[in-house]
Amino acid sequence: AEYSREDIHKSVEADGVQYVRLQFTDVLGAIKNLEIPVSQLKKAIDGEMMFDGSSIEGFVRVEESDMYLKPDLNTWVVLPWTEGIDKTARLICDIHDIDGEPFTGDPRSNLKKVIKEMKELGYDNMNLGPEPEFFFFKLDKDRNYTTEINDDSGYFDLDITDTSGQCRREIARTLDKMNFEVEMFHHEVGPSQHEISFKYMDALTASDALQTFKLVAKTIARKYGLHATFMPKPMYNQPGSGMHYNVSLFKDGKNIFFDENDDFGLSEEMRYFMAGLLDHARSYTAVCNPLVNSYKRLASGFEAPRYIAWSGRNRTPLLRIPSSRGASTRAEVRSLDPSANPYLATAVILAAGLDGIKNKADLTTPVNENIYEMTQKERKAEDVEDLPTTLYTALKAMREDDVVKDALGEHIYEHFVENKMIEWKQYSAQITSWELDEYLGNY
Ligand code: ADP
Ligand code: GLU
Ligand code: MG
Ligand code: MG
Repeated sequence: AEYSREDIHKSVEADGVQYVRLQFTDVLGAIKNLEIPVSQLKKAIDGEMMFDGSSIEGFVRVEESDMYLKPDLNTWVVLPWTEGIDKTARLICDIHDIDGEPFTGDPRSNLKKVIKEMKELGYDNMNLGPEPEFFFFKLDKDRNYTTEINDDSGYFDLDITDTSGQCRREIARTLDKMNFEVEMFHHEVGPSQHEISFKYMDALTASDALQTFKLVAKTIARKYGLHATFMPKPMYNQPGSGMHYNVSLFKDGKNIFFDENDDFGLSEEMRYFMAGLLDHARSYTAVCNPLVNSYKRLASGFEAPRYIAWSGRNRTPLLRIPSSRGASTRAEVRSLDPSANPYLATAVILAAGLDGIKNKADLTTPVNENIYEMTQKERKAEDVEDLPTTLYTALKAMREDDVVKDALGEHIYEHFVENKMIEWKQYSAQITSWELDEYLGNY
């Protein structure tokens, strides 16, 4: 939506807004906020709200800690679950440094930079339709999360009488009140696993929407005694949660991925874009799958990709081209999971695709058989490479690619790699219960 100061003023009056959350996202993807009483709103809208960025993950050192919050008026929304004297609205903000320049450690400002590069290449927009999946786990009597799932249903099961189904509906209804166009919601393949898909939006709005979506899912779930988790692989031998990215480029209101004169209905630019997505896949994986746990999902099948290939039909490779054409012609990137920072993930996916266009990159032939079942020899014959299998190999691959590095900018890139290497080292030093079970007796 597009809002002027005047619109916001009207909304404050009409909805009785008392507080405003000024929201932003740190480098690791956590939502942060600073709350103000509505009396301070004018100052906030004028971009005069200063805060101390020194304790924010991936921001700055104490010596240079003063930063400004610059609200994006178009993100104004009244939080539908707040009432009365607690009625709260939120504004998503960019972070500017003391000189008034966009702060290079701010993931949202950084995404805007990549979008600007896209516009300079002559495209109006990358449309993004994300499909975040999640699980419900039960809260205990102290309201802490447990590892107990909430339902035992499966894919598309009709479970609307249980708490999972009711909770999912209320999440969808809440999103509806917040300018989301919810397309559908359903039970996913795993027990207690769900998906709510919403209509695609431009790259920045969709990235904002993903943060809002996670906040709404978690907030509403608690009303039902549930914890909504976006951890990629919470259960052994069950499906993991993906966050497929459906992407297309638009110019003058038209989807330029579609070409009615092509046998498959796909334009040359789309093929270049896809080739870019395949060529840089190994190096953007750390950003799109940022947790140690992300790789447990990628390793295990269950419709998560393990290999770098594309196909029109099957759900086992990295890229799928859904059969719809015309305005819905799109590439579905299947590797991402919902633990990714959406601003960073969108930036690297867009940059990888654009690099394919800039270099007129060659697209490999599609792989239409189930790649899970191909032998290594068959994969080699078709030139099918693996995605990284651990966070460590993903970080190593990231270091070898300037396109991904440039898409994140030096500040975010350095902080991200440093932080994630620590995570990897901590994890690899653990002695897990699996190891004790397997080795303690036998050796
Ligand atoms: P799946 O078959 O993988 O379950 P869904 O139908 O659940 O796919 O989701 C499709 C997503 O793709 C939706 O978010 C939809 O809005 C989005 N989408 C449709 N057309 C486009 C497009 N041209 N560009 C980007 N996303 C699109
Ligand atoms: N849950 C699967 C994944 O990990 C995706 C299932 C689907 O295609 O909707 O990516
Ligand atoms: Mg799904
Ligand atoms: Mg999908």
